[in-house]
Amino acid sequence: MPTLGTTPKYSFIIPIYNEEESIAELYRRLTDVLEVLDGPSEIILVNDGSRDSSLEMMRQLHHRDRRIVYLSLARNFGHQIAVTAGLNFARGEAVIILDADLQDPPELVYSMIAEWQNGYQVVYAQRIQRHQESWFKRLMAYVFYRVLDRLANVRIPKDTGDFCLMDRVIVDLLNRMPERSRYIRGLRAWLGFKQTAVRFERPPRFAGEVKYTFKKSLALAINSLVAFSVLPLRLSTYLGLFAGSMAIVMAFLVLYWRIARPDSPLTGLATIMIAIFFWGQCS
Ligand code: UDP
Ligand code: MG
Repeated sequence: MPTLGTTPKYSFIIPIYNEEESIAELYRRLTDVLEVLDGPSEIILVNDGSRDSSLEMMRQLHHRDRRIVYLSLARNFGHQIAVTAGLNFARGEAVIILDADLQDPPELVYSMIAEWQNGYQVVYAQRIQRHQESWFKRLMAYVFYRVLDRLANVRIPKDTGDFCLMDRVIVDLLNRMPERSRYIRGLRAWLGFKQTAVRFERPPRFAGEVKYTFKKSLALAINSLVAFSVLPLRLSTYLGLFAGSMAIVMAFLVLYWRIARPDSPLTGLATIMIAIFFWGQCS
């Protein structure tokens, strides 16, 4: 990865998957913000296996503006891995993660930095409203964040995404965490330190289709529940115990049949049936 001369004060990490329609506008809005910040910045664009011209656009931006560096993953690994890759390369004292589609308005960074300067190590953006997202997505998000809140062992703030500012201390700790299936907003909350929210209304996508398909969102939701709650593990234990008890009950029934109805054609199969019940529950 090409590197910048001076050490930046702020690093912006932006995961990108087929966002050719948003990149130019993102660059314009973000660089306007950068102009008024109180120190140098770097922008780390992470190409998550895009199949459109996103990577080419990133290259051009890098040649035009040396504050821009880019990483390109060998295939589509998913948003969380793309952000993780970016975190490993970020050098700023404060690191900001935001989406490429401008649903995370770069201008909110001013309030985030103000809170950071007040001594908070994590400043996360909390959505008070989502504009123009389908009712199904909004309902799913509403239910998921509340279920996670009830089940998780850590308080993960509701209605927050990965849009946040993190102090170098937090980034260094995240980079040392070996978790392979990563739910960054959960890990971030788990670390503790001083955390606060800035609230915002989430605008619609600037352009293009949503890249977090239903399948990807569901996988993220399941990952987060498995990682931050013991309930799925408990459920599978209870299910195993239930299946085991049913096998014992069925074995007794088959034995009873064998003794009470010796002339039935089924009685000859008693041993096989008992074996099947137990084998079925073990496997
Ligand atoms: N993204 C990514 N890899 C993926 C899916 C999405 O890097 O496999 C990026 C995408 O380009 C965008 C951000 O993650 O910058 C959020 O994606 P999207 O806007 O589709 O999700 P939503 O806003 O619905 O959470
Ligand atoms: Mg989006």
